[in-house]
Amino acid sequence: MKRIFLLLAILLPLTSCAAFINGQSYVSLTDWARVNSFRVALLARDEIILTNKTSRLVFDTDSADAKINGVNVRLSFPIAKGALISQLDLDTAVRPLVFLQKFSPKKITTICLDPGHGGKDTGNRVPGFFWHNEKNYTLPLALELREQLKALGFNVILTRSSDTFVELPTRPAIANRAGADLFISLHFNAAQSSKGEVQGPETYCITPVGAASSNSQGEGADHGATIANRVQDKSLMLAYQIQKSLAQNLRVEDRDVRRARFAVLRDAAMPAILIEGGYMTNPTESKKIYDAAWRQQMAAAIVKGILNYQKLTTFPKSAALPSTNPTGIKNSALPAKNDKFSSPRQRTKIDLQ
Ligand SMILES: [Zn+2]
Repeated sequence: MKRIFLLLAILLPLTSCAAFINGQSYVSLTDWARVNSFRVALLARDEIILTNKTSRLVFDTDSADAKINGVNVRLSFPIAKGALISQLDLDTAVRPLVFLQKFSPKKITTICLDPGHGGKDTGNRVPGFFWHNEKNYTLPLALELREQLKALGFNVILTRSSDTFVELPTRPAIANRAGADLFISLHFNAAQSSKGEVQGPETYCITPVGAASSNSQGEGADHGATIANRVQDKSLMLAYQIQKSLAQNLRVEDRDVRRARFAVLRDAAMPAILIEGGYMTNPTESKKIYDAAWRQQMAAAIVKGILNYQKLTTFPKSAALPSTNPTGIKNSALPAKNDKFSSPRQRTKIDLQ
């Protein structure tokens, strides 16, 4: 067993610890854990582990990298010394993933797939025997995914079905017009530096209001709410389930659930994510990306993620819909009464693994 410097949080004094760090409100992770029936272990190298019967959460001091039930999730702000976590991360990352919400009795019917780039927009270009253009791999992945989803009875629409240029704002607009239940944008990545080393999928969902994005460009923290923020908990759960499925089923490196205000995500009115399915700049991973059989497996992993999301977030029609909140924590992102997409909610502790 690992060396444990301090043991269970229940032995710690019940002190309320709140602070402002770099303009962010921080609260005590150990206090939150105790209120929500987690055991806390503070390990060597400032690792903080919260466990209960169904969940295991791992945090690192001075790091925004968290592991929630085995899946890497990039927080908006780093954990601060003294086991402090930003209130925003509790509200917009930890709580939605640990205390799962059942949103709606409505099943997913229509899924909009968005093959990245196209036409004059090649996307990433990587040299090989010939130039590999990202747009030529996102489309066949989308077509494969469409076939697999249609076989399960889903209605699938595409933002493009050939090598044509589609403006970024048009892509979520197509999904909105069709009343799609999910929007999934498909891309492949390229590393600017240390090209050969970086590999693995990343799945993005909309950045919470008041936080900077975790994509490489960033955007600062001064962005207000977008239409996508109205369903940000759902988008986070969809991103989580798909990232988990990709990492576990394809046995690839898990490069996190991340946040970005990508143009295609900002204006989507339904749960929306963007998958970077791996790095074309990695010699091993690029061979897989260029291989139809591998893309078939990737599509199957995405389908599994969608099905898990549906199973975990959709009420059976006969279920009662009480509204409870075991955390007692207010979601400050947007008031629920202004959320035209919200529906009666029930939160249930569920093992996400
Ligand atoms: Zn791309």
